[in-house]
Order: sequence, then structure tokens, then C-alpha cells
Amino acid sequence: KAKSDGKGTFRVYLPEMGREVRRQHYLSNEIRRAVNDSEFSLEFQPIIEIASNQIAYFEALLRWHHPHEGQISPGEFIPIAEETRQILPLGDYVLYEAMQQMEQWNRAGLRKARVSVNVSSVQLKQLALREWVEQALQKTKLPPSCLMIEITESYLMEATGDIIAQIDALRQMGVKVAIDDFGTGYSSLSSLASLPIDVLKIDRSFVNKASSGKKYRRILASIVALAKELDLTIVAEGVETAEELELLKSMKCQYIQGFLISRPQTSKRLNHTLFNKRLSQVANSGTGVWSE
Ligand code: C2E
Ligand code: MG
Ligand code: MG
Ligand code: MG
Repeated sequence: KAKSDGKGTFRVYLPEMGREVRRQHYLSNEIRRAVNDSEFSLEFQPIIEIASNQIAYFEALLRWHHPHEGQISPGEFIPIAEETRQILPLGDYVLYEAMQQMEQWNRAGLRKARVSVNVSSVQLKQLALREWVEQALQKTKLPPSCLMIEITESYLMEATGDIIAQIDALRQMGVKVAIDDFGTGYSSLSSLASLPIDVLKIDRSFVNKASSGKKYRRILASIVALAKELDLTIVAEGVETAEELELLKSMKCQYIQGFLISRPQTSKRLNHTLFNKRLSQVANSGTGVWSE
């Protein structure tokens, strides 16, 4: 994290920071190699519509299986890939792979589901976003309405007018746009009215706090109500318990994502469950919330 300190801050280098810097340096070299060696893959996590029990989206999540280190979490390597711009080739891989998979699922009969892809600020700044997505749509033959992109609240808040215009162009094409990790940044609720978004993903930490504290519960209820007023679709992230689900239902939250329903999984494993109609068995809850 040291490198993301603001300008003019003093840095004190402690031995363990040296270790961290070395680790980052090591990983940035390893990412370059790993892209060539195809060590990256995707997992997909279902987002379901509570009312219908249907899968509305699959969020594509990047995975790195390193030959010596094993699984390295995106929380660790994504920031490094962003800093070194390796997120650009990685992001290409994610978009194409996710869209190709969704196209296959579409053809196999999952017509209502969409795929959701995380896009980082470096990509937003660097890419001609609209052309990037258009090319992928052409190549994969996925209809634009079957794609969503997720941009975190903090990225969206710093987006320039130019980037906002590009995001809006995607929406004109029928692509959905979500604000990710909402509640972790510092946007005011009023900014929701002006952002070019269709879907609001409420951050996991917020969902968890709401289940244990009355004040957070009220805030969450207000956000859900306000988002509704603004015609935004609401997804609650990180739903782990039946209590959380009940709470969200009582607030009329429409969509949920979390370990209660399903962990992120490989497409292969998902295929097995999707097309053997054993969806409720993969739901960790055992409550059968997730079934076709
Ligand atoms: P995110 O976009 O907010 O993704 C949701 C994260 O929450 C995922 O972590 C997912 O595994 C985790 N999660 C889902 N349900 C639960 C739950 O019930 N409990 C808990 N404790 N966690 C849950 P993951 O896969 O480790 O990804 C972390 C972050 O890394 C993502 O957060 C996203 O910001 C970033 N990321 C992952 N893949 C990509 C990618 O392809 N591109 C970019 N730019 N960022 C990515
Ligand atoms: Mg996301
Ligand atoms: Mg999120
Ligand atoms: Mg997150």
C-alpha cells in the first residue's frame, strides 16, 4: 500500500515494508510471466433475483493459480497489476473469457442471465471503453444486454466527464453499468441521481453491519428505498446468513450475492450443476433459495 500514499507524505521504511515492496516487485514480474503461461482463469458467482430464485447475473472473478505459491488472491495482485498496467492485458482476457462463457450459457438455454465484469480505473483511463466493448461484443456475438460492467464507487467518483460520457455510451448500447462496493467510498447519496448507472451493489461490510446494528439497518433501508425511487436495481453483496437474507427481503432488496447462495465457481462446475438441475444443492445454505 506504500506506493498509493499521497504526494508529499513522508514515508518511513521499516524492515517489513521492505519485505512488502520486494513482494510487490516479485509479483509484478510474475504477473507478466503468468499472463503468457496462462495461469489466470475465471470463476463465476451467481447473483440471484430473490423473488424468482433465478440467476440474474454471473459476476466474473479473476483467479491466479501460481505454480509455487498456489492461489494468489485478486485483493493482492489486482492493485499491483493496476500499478504496472498489466491490468490491461488481464482485463482483455477477463472480458473476452467472461463474454464467451456467457454466450455459451445463452445458447445452452440460460437466456435471462447476464455476465458482470469488473473494470478498474486504469482501464477506464486508458481504454477507448466503447470500442473495447464493441469489439468484444462483435467477436463473441454476445448481445449487449447480456453484459454488465462493474465500477467501484471510489473509481466512479473520480471519473472525468469524458469517462462518464463513455460509460453512458455503453448504456446507450444496452450494456448495464453497476456501481460496485457502494457504501465504502465517500459519495453522497445525491450523487446517485447523476451517475450513469443501472445497478447499485451494496458492499458486503454494509450488509454485515446492518445485520448487527440498528443504525446501520436504518441506513441500509434508506439506501434501498432511495435506490428504488431512482429506478436503480439493488444487489446486496456478501450475504452469508439467513438472517441477512430475511433482513434484505424485509427491505425489499431485489437481488443478492454471497456465500449463502453460492461461492464463486469455475464454469465447469457451474455447468455441472446448472444443467443437472441440482442448483439448490450447491447453495451452501441448504435453504434451497437458489434453484431453477
Ligand atoms: P468485488 O468486485 O466486490 O467482488 C466480490 C468479492 O467478494 C469477491 O472476492 C467474492 O469472492 C467475494 N464474496 C462474494 N460473496 C461473499 C460472501 O458472502 N462473503 C465474503 N466474505 N466474500 C464474498 P474476490 O474474488 O477475492 O475479489 C476481490 C476483488 O478483486 C473484487 O471485489 C474486485 O474488486 C477485484 N477483482 C476480482 N476480479 C477482477 C477482475 O477481473 N478485474 C478487476 N479489475 N478487479 C477484479
Ligand atoms: Mg465486483
Ligand atoms: Mg463488490
Ligand atoms: Mg468488493
